[in-house]
Amino acid sequence: MAEGFDNVIVATGSRPKRFPLGAAQISVAEEVLNGQVEVGSDVAIIGGGLVGCELALWLANEGKGVTIVEQLEDILALNGPLCPANFEMLRALLDFKGVRIICGATAKGYEAGALIVGTADGDIEVKADNVVECVGYTPNSDLFEDLRYGKAKVNKIGDSRGVANIMNAIWDAYELASTI
Ligand SMILES: Cc1cc2nc3c(=O)[nH]c(=O)nc-3n(C[C@H](O)[C@H](O)[C@H](O)COP(=O)(O)OP(=O)(O)OC[C@H]3O[C@@H](n4cnc5c(N)ncnc54)[C@H](O)[C@@H]3O)c2cc1C
Repeated sequence: MAEGFDNVIVATGSRPKRFPLGAAQISVAEEVLNGQVEVGSDVAIIGGGLVGCELALWLANEGKGVTIVEQLEDILALNGPLCPANFEMLRALLDFKGVRIICGATAKGYEAGALIVGTADGDIEVKADNVVECVGYTPNSDLFEDLRYGKAKVNKIGDSRGVANIMNAIWDAYELASTI
């Protein structure tokens, strides 16, 4: 509801993308990081972007056996470039902590405690008590859509306008605030 306001700014963030692997053991990064899902000793992470790699490192530091499955030929390949120091350090730490990385590979399903992964050499099974999908985010603009035809002028900023990062959200906020 937006009664009695001249302007409403919607900053409702984003939602993680999910694809149906059809098993109760599948979750997303937020659920693991927020403690809503407790993972077992072997975890497969689908997606070797920044969220997948940072989650992998965190879980490895918790003593979990972690495998990253990435469909591109390398991890951390999208949405860059990262600062080279961060990029090199993250890669080195994943290696140091024994995180297994399988690139050029696609998650196909989950059966009997294993993630089925398609590779150039055929399907392989990755033992996993839990699978965490880290495959990106979509803007959450439901509230914006609900309010946009009301009396107030409605704007959206940050991830609800376009998924990016904290700096982008702050720039958005600053630019909008300067025009109101
Ligand atoms: C695991 C992870 C790690 C990240 N690490 C970094 C990083 O290191 N550096 C970086 O720059 N960015 C990072 N990001 C991205 C960054 O978190 C987002 O770009 C940033 O938080 C976007 O800010 P926002 O204010 O638009 O949305 P959010 O921070 O997502 O805030 C949206 C808020 O709106 C609330 N909300 C939603 N709907 C409603 C409603 N109907 N009514 C009331 N409240 C509602 C939500 O609960 C939430 O609190 C990371 C993202 C993830 C998922």
